[in-house]
Amino acid sequence: NTVYVFDKTLYQEAQLRYYIETHMHEALASEEYQLYLQPRMNLHTGHIDGAEALVRWKSPDQGFLSPGEFIPLFEKNRFIVKLDQFMFTSVCGLLRQWLDAGIEPRPLSVNVSQMQFHTPDFVERYIGIKSQYAIPDGLLELEFTESIFFDNVALLSSAVHEFRRAGIKCSIDDFGAGYSSLNVLKALPVSVLKLDGMFFRTAKDDEQANIVIRNIMRMAGELKMATVAEGVETPEQVAFLETTGCDIIQGYVFARPMPAAEFTALLAGEGGHAER
Ligand code: C2E
Ligand code: MG
Ligand code: MG
Repeated sequence: NTVYVFDKTLYQEAQLRYYIETHMHEALASEEYQLYLQPRMNLHTGHIDGAEALVRWKSPDQGFLSPGEFIPLFEKNRFIVKLDQFMFTSVCGLLRQWLDAGIEPRPLSVNVSQMQFHTPDFVERYIGIKSQYAIPDGLLELEFTESIFFDNVALLSSAVHEFRRAGIKCSIDDFGAGYSSLNVLKALPVSVLKLDGMFFRTAKDDEQANIVIRNIMRMAGELKMATVAEGVETPEQVAFLETTGCDIIQGYVFARPMPAAEFTALLAGEGGHAER
C-alpha cells in the first residue's frame, strides 16, 4: 500500500551529482576548471581595482557548470581543498604572467572554503605558493565567509595576522547575508569588508536600512578596512552606494565574471587609455 512516484528532476539531479563525483579528479587533470575574473571598480577613481577569482567548470559532457552546482558537493567530499589550491595557484600564475609581460598587475582575490581553512598546513602552503611565484606584497587577497569567522575567531585572527605579515590581505565575504556579527569586526584585523548584495538591495527610501548601511561603511573606514559592495545590479544602487562612502563595487552593473584572458585584455585597454 505504498505508492512511489517517479520524479524526473530528482533523477536528473542524482545523475549530475554522480557525474560530478566520478569526474571531478580527471577534470582537474584535463584542465576543465577555469579561472574566471569579475572586475571590481573603484568608486573614487572610476578605474578597475582588481578582480575576484571565480571557478567555472567547462565539462565536455555536461557543458558549462557554475559553482552553485558543484561546490556544495565538493564541500561535502573534501575535493574543495584541492580546487581552492588550484584556483590560488592559477591566480599566482596569472599575476606572474602580467609581471613578466610588463602589464601593471591589479590585486586579485580568491575564495577560501571552510575546509581549506582547517587543513593543517593551510597558511604555510598558501604563503609558500606566493613565494614560489615571487608575487609582490599587496596583490593577493583571501576571501573568508562569515561562517568561518564565527566559530574560530581566535584561530582565524592568528591566520589573518600571519597572512598580513606575508603581504597577503584578508577579507570577510558575504557580510550582511547571514547572521553578521559585530564581534567579527571587533576582533579580526582584516583589510577588506565585502558586503553582500542582499544587504543594500533595499528600497531607496528605507531610511532605517540606509542609516545602518552608511554607518557600517563608516565603521569599516575607521577600522581601515576597504569596503566592497558586491552583487550591484543597477545604476540606482551605484548612486546610493556613492553616498555611503563605499570604496569599491563589484556586480553585473559594471561587469560580469569573464575568462582570465578577457580580463587581461581589458586591463591592457585601460592601461592604454590612461596613457592618452
Ligand atoms: P561569492 O564569493 O560571494 O562570489 C560572488 C558571486 O556573485 C559570484 O557567483 C558572482 O558571479 C555573483 N555575482 C556577481 N555580480 C552579481 C550581480 O550583480 N548580481 C548577482 N545576483 N550575482 C552576482 P558564482 O561565480 O556563481 O559563485 C558563487 C559562489 O561560489 C561564490 O560566492 C563563492 O562562495 C563560491 N566560489 C566560486 N569560486 C570558488 C572557489 O574557487 N573556491 C571556493 N571555495 N568557492 C568558490
Ligand atoms: Mg567571494
Ligand atoms: Mg560574496
